[in-house]
Amino acid sequence: MKIVSIVGARPQFIKAAPVSRALRAAGLAEVMIHTGQHYDADMSELFFDQLELTRPAYNLGAGSATPGVQTGRMLQALEPVLMKEKPDWVLIYGDTNSTLAGALAAAKLAIPLAHVEAGARSFNRAMPEEINRVVADRLSNLLFAASETAVTNLRHEGIRDELIFFSGDVMFDAVRLFTAVAEQRSCILERLVVKPKDFALATIHRAANTEDPNRLREIFGAFADLTRELPVVLPLHPRTRAASDPQTTKAFTAAGGKLIEPIGYFDMLMLERHAAVIVTDSGGVQKEAFFNEVPCITLREETEWTELVALGWNTLLPPAQANRLRDLAREVRGGRGKSAMPYGDGNAAAVVAQWIAAPLTSAE
Ligand code: UDP
Repeated sequence: MKIVSIVGARPQFIKAAPVSRALRAAGLAEVMIHTGQHYDADMSELFFDQLELTRPAYNLGAGSATPGVQTGRMLQALEPVLMKEKPDWVLIYGDTNSTLAGALAAAKLAIPLAHVEAGARSFNRAMPEEINRVVADRLSNLLFAASETAVTNLRHEGIRDELIFFSGDVMFDAVRLFTAVAEQRSCILERLVVKPKDFALATIHRAANTEDPNRLREIFGAFADLTRELPVVLPLHPRTRAASDPQTTKAFTAAGGKLIEPIGYFDMLMLERHAAVIVTDSGGVQKEAFFNEVPCITLREETEWTELVALGWNTLLPPAQANRLRDLAREVRGGRGKSAMPYGDGNAAAVVAQWIAAPLTSAE
């Protein structure tokens, strides 16, 4: 049986890592296609090296562009590759333009399609990722949900029960797989001269927060304010770097904030594990904060990962109120949410591999 995995962006390399291993363990052949959505060495190559991912057999070189152009380039390049490879399944991950292009290309060629992290919903169609999720799920023949909430979302959209599997979250698998090696190999805390539980970790890259210069300036102002109390470490996403001029970042760095290049997964895991509080608009980082039992503040109006808000591990801070960040960080710091395991037991990738290997009659 041949599986084609389509990845292109940093979070997808991380999600694919445990799944690739599980596919190998199940004796399934995997052909990796990299769309080229992320292409900087520290956003792509580094992850293939660290996570020992199956090397891409194809790199489509889609690069940066407007969403329509980028997705179009991928779709055009994917079609001949899928026609040549003739896989039994196409596997897509998460919610990026690579997910969308992969879904469309496979569905048009009537190749069975499986979506890992299906059913995540923000219910905000202004968010580009939400459109990718809705379309990918509609076209998929197997839908692997990370949480029961995601299962419910899919049911409410009329997707047949027999296509939906609660697998748990492959990002939890990744944290479990790589934390021990990260402990050994990363010296990021020493490098940045920060002490465990004595710094905040921040990431920011959602379009809603980066496209409006005033909003981005306010967010950096809030990070500067927090830094005066608790040093903030901010690995900067290329999109955010492109959107921010020196004026935007000045207050933050002047206050002593640590603005760094994007880091590898091992360094990221260690910063997450040892942070006193995490401030983010990332989907994956919200969950990783929880896996590491660190309180999280999410700079968004809403989240797909509502369980974490209900459990008290995550607090939403609408970006328009970013100036409340320092007070809120003080409130949540050191606090602990309720214990629960909404994202499975860390064996999601094995569930994915098992159902992919099952006879095709199980799917539509
Ligand atoms: N991440 C990383 N290095 C960084 C920032 C993030 O390895 O400098 C990892 C992070 O641990 C998580 C994933 O990238 O696993 C999240 O990706 P991102 O925030 O870009 O996307 P999202 O999860 O919002 O789709």
